[in-house]
Amino acid sequence: MKMSKLFVQTLREFPSDAEVISHKLLVRAGFIRKLTSGVYNYLPLMWKVLKKVENIIREEMDRAGAQELLMPFVQPKELWEESGRWGAYGGELMRLKDRHGREMCLGPTHEEIITAIARDNLKSYKQLPVNLYQIQSKFRDERRPRFGLLRGREFIMKDAYSFAASQEELEKEYQNMWEAYTRIFKRCGLETKAVQSDSGAIGGSVSHEFMVITDTDAGENDVFYCECDYAANSNHAVSNLPEAKISGDWTEAKIVDTPNTHSIEELCDFLKIPATVIVKTLVYIVDKKPVLALIRADKAVEETKLMNAVGGTDIRIATAGEIEEMMVVNGFDAEKGFIGPKGLKEYNGYPITVIADETVKEMKNFVIGINKKDAHVIGYNWGKEVELPQIVTDIRLAEAGDICPVCGKPLKVTRGIEVGNIFQLGTKYSKPMNAVYLDQNGKAQPYIMGCYGIGVTRTAAAAVEAHYDEHGIKWPLAIAPYHAVVIPVSTKDETQMKVAEDIYKTLIKHGVEAVLDDRDERAGVKFKDADLIGFPYRITVGKGISEGLVEFKVRETEEISNIKPEEAAEIVVTAVNKLI
Ligand code: ATP
Ligand code: MG
Repeated sequence: MKMSKLFVQTLREFPSDAEVISHKLLVRAGFIRKLTSGVYNYLPLMWKVLKKVENIIREEMDRAGAQELLMPFVQPKELWEESGRWGAYGGELMRLKDRHGREMCLGPTHEEIITAIARDNLKSYKQLPVNLYQIQSKFRDERRPRFGLLRGREFIMKDAYSFAASQEELEKEYQNMWEAYTRIFKRCGLETKAVQSDSGAIGGSVSHEFMVITDTDAGENDVFYCECDYAANSNHAVSNLPEAKISGDWTEAKIVDTPNTHSIEELCDFLKIPATVIVKTLVYIVDKKPVLALIRADKAVEETKLMNAVGGTDIRIATAGEIEEMMVVNGFDAEKGFIGPKGLKEYNGYPITVIADETVKEMKNFVIGINKKDAHVIGYNWGKEVELPQIVTDIRLAEAGDICPVCGKPLKVTRGIEVGNIFQLGTKYSKPMNAVYLDQNGKAQPYIMGCYGIGVTRTAAAAVEAHYDEHGIKWPLAIAPYHAVVIPVSTKDETQMKVAEDIYKTLIKHGVEAVLDDRDERAGVKFKDADLIGFPYRITVGKGISEGLVEFKVRETEEISNIKPEEAAEIVVTAVNKLI
């Protein structure tokens, strides 16, 4: 490809709406252009990268024994009603109507469709296990599309679904996919960590996410991990806590004035106590319903855990206005900072659900709000002064330094970008959709399913997050749009041009995807573009050619050497041929 013909427009500045480096660089280097919020055009350079990611995925999925198919992007409501998700999926599901008024949606994921395909085609245990996958655009009306390709509304995903006749068969396939994923990300030039995670709207019990560990702002997940193999997303991480003082020194319960103690810190200062003897009450709205969360006051609530404990799909903290209204409805006069579970019955037409974190269970003689402004009670006890809520479960956010649940060492925390995940679904879809096969005894059984996703566009963007410097992208060779650029310093110099063209032709002949920068531009401009676009190798033909040398630069390491043209070509050809 001649640079003068390459469809690319690099920009001098980063786009003003971009927050993270992959978004900034992919726009500036001419890979993507925004069409509308969370929806991007993949321009030729980007499309080459995406096809390479897709091909790596394809090769490894095929090698693992999965079979590719393609399902439609538009899906009928009826199948979503069968699975029960038409109502449950929430705002991310983009719903629409056709001209006959039939309701449809844009596929955010394809469990319903694949389960229907299996139901129609896999009738006997003899046909199982099967793993089917596709690489397809998805649409999710994300609440906050952001970070360019990392969290788009339309994006490309590889989604695979396995059908098995037993849990053992499912676990075997899960392991098989785990290994395939490890190979896929490695081949894409990405180091990943497999972490335990929450299963969210997809459902199921066991699931792992493959995270690219990053210290950039793009890491939306906190990953807790330990020297031992334990690693979990914050929405799933469990930990043990060091011993703490969890009993107050009071011998009897009484109400005390605590003026203006709106925060836990103020309350601790005022009563001269540690937060570990206070039960904190937080008010949430889960799918419109009021929920109180009780937790030891030095700890924070993990909202996904809380949401799952209630069985909801959407969670947010209540506003100050809602809290005041809740007080009035229940006959109290209080505000944030003084809330407690006692006497709170209903709000918004729903009964109030109370969930306690495990940390509060063993607490004694504690402090808690009683829905009275500028007052708290001290010396309360479960069962005596106030009932322990019926639901006591882990809704706590782990913290770095907590104790690893597996080995007892301190947990560490880092941030990660989720590029893929694997789920053991079990019969979550096959049962409600009555998707069954006949077992050895001729008895109908629901398939035991698994599902396995990889964000193709997100993986490409994550590769940029992991490989860049102040000059631009440093594509890993396997997914770079082109492997090498050949730059004649002066296109007017016949010798330089001739050598550059020869090198370019040699590279092409040996299967290297190369670009010849034949533009009549200053060398500095060409170098800047080469760095920005992120060609893994740069061969510059300049004055040194009078001594038979070209300049060879490796983008990843920024190493520069002056070598013979044949040597430079040889290094590139060898590296490219090593890509499996
Ligand atoms: P997240 O928690 O980041 O929203 P998810 O759990 O919703 O991800 P899945 O439904 O399991 O993701 O989708 C499989 C893969 O698709 C993810 O691992 C991720 O790589 C990719 N993906 C999900 N949502 C998006 C998005 N909005 N933009 C780009 N890629 C996405
Ligand atoms: Mg999501």
